[in-house]
Amino acid sequence: MTDQTSDQGALELASLIRASRRAVVFTGAGISTESGIPDFRSRGGIWTKMMPINFDEFVASAEARRESWRRRFEMEGTWNKVKPNAGHNAVAELVRLGRVTHVITQNIDNLHQDSGISEEQIIELHGNTRYAKCLDCGQRMEIANVRKHFESYGEPPDCSACDGIVKTATISFGQAMPEVEMERATRATLACDLFVVLGSSLVVYPAAGFPLLAKRNGAQLVILNREPTEQEQYADLALHGEIGPIMGAAVNAL
Ligand code: NAD
Ligand code: ZN
Repeated sequence: MTDQTSDQGALELASLIRASRRAVVFTGAGISTESGIPDFRSRGGIWTKMMPINFDEFVASAEARRESWRRRFEMEGTWNKVKPNAGHNAVAELVRLGRVTHVITQNIDNLHQDSGISEEQIIELHGNTRYAKCLDCGQRMEIANVRKHFESYGEPPDCSACDGIVKTATISFGQAMPEVEMERATRATLACDLFVVLGSSLVVYPAAGFPLLAKRNGAQLVILNREPTEQEQYADLALHGEIGPIMGAAVNAL
């Protein structure tokens, strides 16, 4: 394992990318902080102010559902405003260049899509907060329509197709992982020869299992994070610094 300064690190990362035939990028909340979305751990962030509503509670209680939707509507201004940053753009460039086959993300913010990467190359392990879905039949519903209904009736609507419960298309604590995405992520991980983690503390499982799976399967593992992560000891290259500048420099050095 090597631990480098940012400039040196970017060059080392570039050379690993050059040597790789199929890389996978794995992102966490840290890639989006430069867009103004607080990560999970930052003090005073939105995620620390309120106890998360877990899945069982959401399903069991109409009041929990109302509270969950109230919180979601409060965030709408932020979600509509946020834009991809230098880190997202560098990843999108690596995808365009054919260096990166897939981006596996724990983020729910849609910023990889907004950076121009196609849905086929994005795997969202924890879903997406930018739209809603019926928990029973999976039918998609737009947040603006849920909001209109909520403002008129004080309740979120039921699914128009099956009367099921409508929830943001995210995976809550206590909710089962999405099967198709888990399978796609496993396939991409096993096919890659380089696995690059950007901005994840690697404590949330099963998502945090993918870097280890890649490593055990013979891929090189790179972890770029502001602070040391839980999987530092497995990394072939561990970089501590800001994602935007380091990824930008790495892409420029290709
Ligand atoms: P985390 O908050 O546990 O870890 C993020 C890591 O990124 C931290 O170790 C932090 O030091 C680092 N970091 C922050 N900004 C950075 C930067 N500019 N450059 C380099 N490193 C930086 O996040 P996680 O591992 O993704 O797990 C949190 C869970 O919360 C995830 O499951 C995710 O679904 C959810 N979440 C999502 C978002 C989002 O969609 N943007 C935001 C917060 C939380
Ligand atoms: Zn339905």
